[in-house]
Amino acid sequence: MTMRIVVLGGGTAGTTVANRLARALRPEIRRGTVEVTVVTDRDRHWYQPGYLFVVFNERPLEDFVRSERALLLPEVGLVVDEITRIDLERKQLISPQRHYPYDVLVIATGSYPDFQSVPGLAEVTYDFYTPQGAERLRDRLTTWTGGRIMIVQDVPHKCPAAPVEVTLMLDDYFRRRRLRDRVEIVYTYPIGRVHAAEPIADWAKQQFDARGIRYETFFNMEAVDPKRQVVLTMDGSEHPFDLLISIPAHKGAGVILNSGIGDESGFIPTDRHTLKMIGQDDVYVLGDATNLPISKAGSTAHYQAEVLVKNLVDRVRGLPETHLYNGKVACFLENSLEDASFIAFDYDHPPRPAATSQLLHWFKGMYNELYWLTARGLM
Ligand SMILES: Cc1cc2nc3c(=O)[nH]c(=O)nc-3n(C[C@H](O)[C@H](O)[C@H](O)COP(=O)(O)OP(=O)(O)OC[C@H]3O[C@@H](n4cnc5c(N)ncnc54)[C@H](O)[C@@H]3O)c2cc1C
Repeated sequence: MTMRIVVLGGGTAGTTVANRLARALRPEIRRGTVEVTVVTDRDRHWYQPGYLFVVFNERPLEDFVRSERALLLPEVGLVVDEITRIDLERKQLISPQRHYPYDVLVIATGSYPDFQSVPGLAEVTYDFYTPQGAERLRDRLTTWTGGRIMIVQDVPHKCPAAPVEVTLMLDDYFRRRRLRDRVEIVYTYPIGRVHAAEPIADWAKQQFDARGIRYETFFNMEAVDPKRQVVLTMDGSEHPFDLLISIPAHKGAGVILNSGIGDESGFIPTDRHTLKMIGQDDVYVLGDATNLPISKAGSTAHYQAEVLVKNLVDRVRGLPETHLYNGKVACFLENSLEDASFIAFDYDHPPRPAATSQLLHWFKGMYNELYWLTARGLM
């Protein structure tokens, strides 16, 4: 009998876990007792943190995309198909074309900004959370001669620190272009400080104060009026802008919402240590798709993949699954176009931003290249 391990989603989490599994289970795959297959809806694999560098014209978008087939080891099967429903009872994935049965399922379907969540927003916003958005914002900035830029966001969203980074990078970008005195930069956040994690909020506030970046807290969008170019907030006030950059609240993938297996936003109830879907012994959830109260980040997916692979290898070999995820996340924080900080934290230890340095910025740039090794399961 062959154990069919199916990974749904060929992004950071799915690709990393499939490659690591194939390497660890090579003997079983060769004997035909295990199959590892990635089912994903496109053959293009995007490295999303790269979009920040596209915005500031530091790197072209093509640097951050690869073919999924080329990233996967030959031992991993690849099916490119859009799954419309997950049937947990019959243990199969369903697309309009086919049904894909599994014995063990790993769900890694990611999270997506919902630009429709605020009326009027989609009509006028710029963004850097999509590949097309990053290029469009880059082109807009290139011809920008001055005015009021608002960075607005709602939670949850992936890479919780990226809006802070883009704000600090914008400040540096306009200084270099000798335009800073003609640009008002306004950063906003929905709760009473500038970031959900207090140490990051304290760090960011210091940077904002030192550079004349305005910030507004308790800023909750109700609607955007595209004609008048104003954001309307829930407290009844209006905020004019010349350029609006938004990071709206994210949702889980459509297939999770359609299958009725997530919460109201499409995030899947997941055990914080074992990464099993709650109430399911044969389904694991990784990366942005979980409902875990931790950063939706590529590094989260990476550390989760390490734990999951150990447990799945033990499962295949008839051993108990004893490895536990501890909430580990690590991220570089760009402070400008040439220096950065770094944070690492887990369920029990809050983040403490490291002193900023050019070296950390250089490491972030280096990781943009090393990522492809991580996705191949080599790092
Ligand atoms: C601008 C930006 C900056 C970022 N910076 C950082 C950073 O500095 N550090 C960091 O750690 N993280 C960062 N991130 C976050 C990181 O990119 C994500 O958290 C990470 O990609 C999540 O991995 P994932 O596999 O869960 O989801 P994804 O990588 O989004 O992959 C999801 C996959 O599921 C597939 N899929 C979805 N629905 C279906 C379906 N119905 N059928 C078949 N396939 C489906 C998709 O095609 C995709 O391949 C950043 C993100 C952005 C946008």
